Amino acid sequence: MNSFVSRDGSRWVPEYLSQIDANCIGCGRCFKVCWRDVMHLSGITDSGEIVGAGDGADDDEVERMLMIVDHPGRCIGCGACARVCPKNCQFHIKSSD
Ligand code: SF4
Ligand code: SF4
Repeated sequence: MNSFVSRDGSRWVPEYLSQIDANCIGCGRCFKVCWRDVMHLSGITDSGEIVGAGDGADDDEVERMLMIVDHPGRCIGCGACARVCPKNCQFHIKSSD
C-alpha cells in the first residue's frame, strides 16, 4: 500500500476518490476544494442519461445536477472532498500498490 511521510514523520495513507453515487445533490462543495481537476458537474436527464456541458442536451431535459468523477487518475487522495460533502455519497479507495 502506498504511503507517504508527513513533515512530523507520521505516516500518511492516501485515499483516492473513485466514485460518487446517486445521492449527490450537485452542491459543488467537493469541486471547490479540489485543485486536481478530478471531477466535474454534469446533468442527469429523466431517462438517467448523464450529459455534460456541450453535449447538446436542452436545459429542459436535465432533471438535476450531480458530480461525476471523470479523471480519477489525477486524485492525490488528500480527502478534502470527503470532508466537505454533506451527503456522504463519495467512495474512496486506498492504493493496493
Ligand atoms: S481526495 Fe483530494 S485530490 Fe482527490 S478528488 Fe478529493 S479533493 Fe481532489
Ligand atoms: S460535495 Fe457531495 S453532494 Fe456536493 S457535489 Fe460533491 S459529491 Fe455531490
